[in-house]
Amino acid sequence: MIRQFELVEKVRDYDPAVNEVGINKAYIFAMQKHGSQRRASGDPYFSHPLEVAWLLADMRLDSGSIITALLHDTVEDTDASLTDIKRLFGEDIARLVDGVTKLNKIEIQSDRTKQAENFRKLVLAMSEDIRVLLVKLADRLHNMRTLGFVKSEVSRRRSAAETMDIYAPLAERIGMQPWRDELVDLAFAELNPDARNSIITRLELLRSNGRDLSEKVIVALHKTLSESALNAEVSGREKAAYSIWTKMQRKAAPFEALTDIMAFRVIVGSVEECYRALGAIHGAYQVLPGRFKDYISTPKPNGYQSLHTGVIGPERMRIEVQIRTREMHEIAEYGLASHWRYKQGDAVHDGKQFAWIRSLLDILDEAGGAEEFLEHTKLEMFQDQVFCFTPKGDLIGLPNGATVVDFAYAVHSEVGDHCVGARINGRIAPVRSKLSNGDEVEVLTSKNKTPSPEWGQFVATGRAKARIRRLIRLEQRDQYISLGREVAKAAAAEAGQNFSERMLRPVLKKFKLETHDDLFAALGEGLFTEAELISVLAPKAAPSITKVGEDRQAGKSAASQENTNVKALPLKGLIPGMAVHYARCCHPLPGDQIIGIVTSGKGVTVHVSDCATLEAFSHTPERWLDVDWEEKSLERRVGRVRITLQNSPGALGAVSNTIGRQGGNISNLRFSSRAEDFFELIVDIEVDSLDHLAIIIAALRADSVITTIEREGA
Ligand code: MN
Repeated sequence: MIRQFELVEKVRDYDPAVNEVGINKAYIFAMQKHGSQRRASGDPYFSHPLEVAWLLADMRLDSGSIITALLHDTVEDTDASLTDIKRLFGEDIARLVDGVTKLNKIEIQSDRTKQAENFRKLVLAMSEDIRVLLVKLADRLHNMRTLGFVKSEVSRRRSAAETMDIYAPLAERIGMQPWRDELVDLAFAELNPDARNSIITRLELLRSNGRDLSEKVIVALHKTLSESALNAEVSGREKAAYSIWTKMQRKAAPFEALTDIMAFRVIVGSVEECYRALGAIHGAYQVLPGRFKDYISTPKPNGYQSLHTGVIGPERMRIEVQIRTREMHEIAEYGLASHWRYKQGDAVHDGKQFAWIRSLLDILDEAGGAEEFLEHTKLEMFQDQVFCFTPKGDLIGLPNGATVVDFAYAVHSEVGDHCVGARINGRIAPVRSKLSNGDEVEVLTSKNKTPSPEWGQFVATGRAKARIRRLIRLEQRDQYISLGREVAKAAAAEAGQNFSERMLRPVLKKFKLETHDDLFAALGEGLFTEAELISVLAPKAAPSITKVGEDRQAGKSAASQENTNVKALPLKGLIPGMAVHYARCCHPLPGDQIIGIVTSGKGVTVHVSDCATLEAFSHTPERWLDVDWEEKSLERRVGRVRITLQNSPGALGAVSNTIGRQGGNISNLRFSSRAEDFFELIVDIEVDSLDHLAIIIAALRADSVITTIEREGA
């Protein structure tokens, strides 16, 4: 067992201001309190808090953390009370011990709701003082190291799953990389021992006939760097079994195909030397495409910095090389703990560093019950999560596969509604672009933009989905209103009156509606019929059959009126004299949010702002041209259809709905004849092509309320 003075000396090594009295007092207190208690391994129980304290000392943590580690199980497992702790060790330590004690219950709970509640406590506790989390992680690490002694397979597996789902991601999040790696490996050993064993056996095999190879690589890399006058420390290590396993799964590749199972590390003196070392390695070896990552200019959210690259290195071995300075190495190895070396205690209240914890808390406050919270956090937050940042550095956690639109809605509903694209890590990208961990996302908005129905097909968050659906429903209402207005006009004509909104007042009263728009919407949706309207407007007038010829005449005059609005160019924001093409990939139609791509000599190609093709131009923002449709663009052609419709509630609404869903726009609608059960309509629909019209007709034909439909004048 670790001796009292050994622990104190270990802490003194990195912290001359060690609280020797406090550590000694805690050592004795915990030893006495745990007394003859034993672990599952048969060891005295006290060995556990002692090992936890030792782990924290390995990470060079402050005396407060060490004392908390020694005491962390006393309140829960012995007759010691929190009051005792407060009296003997002070308010600060008591608060820390209380925090850890509350969290201890998390692993005993099998009930999902209780687990969620405990997880909530974990987040709350660590938001107050990150040392609670550090002690908890060390506690978990030691428990995982001794997991084999636990008899029940069920509880072993549960601990392993929790470690994989919650503790390992938390360790990674605060940059405790060695702990994270070990936690993952121990959990992997419990959850999938066969896979882990086979990988380790293969690694051993490889090492037995290739040990000299990695030595040779190190020597050769060292030589390459020396030739560029770089004094570098080079080391090599195998990647962890679990990371090889996930890679095998992700690429669906057999072990043999994974050649880059060795990672080499180059440590140099300065940032400038990092880039020089990179240049030297790229100059000497063939670079593997797509493997270079600059985490120096764009550090990971946990503060990790390094240059990563992949090359076909010495001995024709595919290797990964990580290049960093000594200080970056410290942060990579000790994470958060490295901060204690420079400014003790400050990191505890370092608001910037732990903004992510606050955002966890926000989710917690918004989520309904604890159960839901677990869905949001454990499942969404850790297993399939991407962490992205606003330009101000606020963290936004989103499920995997989340897009710019999801991010925009997570920032604010208004931002989502008006989102037209984003700058991801400084590069312009379209709204449907998927986000990756650590992306900095600046949402680009436009006042005139509204969500398009297609967004609903690619967004990943419920929040975005719900909002888009709501707005599309509102838009649908607009369609119903314009349709209803036409119905009302037709009804007025039918009743032999000149249409005015004023004449509808008795109708509003009769149907108990607030506004004219409410009336039009109800009429458009088919909640009541034209006949009912007429019966209020002109109680004695009988519905008559309108002559088709007259209607066509009226239609023509309406169309020619609209034609006067045609402008030479339907687009705003064009460079004069440039040719315009409409992209075949996305078929922009008036009303779509659009973006122009300039090709010299060819003019401007217009894409829908959601178009996936735009991703190909994300690295050339200078070619992007902000274009928009003119208000009254008549680029679209008008197709005319004749529909025979059942006279049933909602029938008209169904027609307008179907047309709208297929991207058509009703520009004119008239009743050409009507009987009790059926009526015939002539509908003018703005479409982009005959194909488009054919699609709309097919969709209408599928609707059961429609008896016949055919194109007019074809
Ligand atoms: Mn413990």
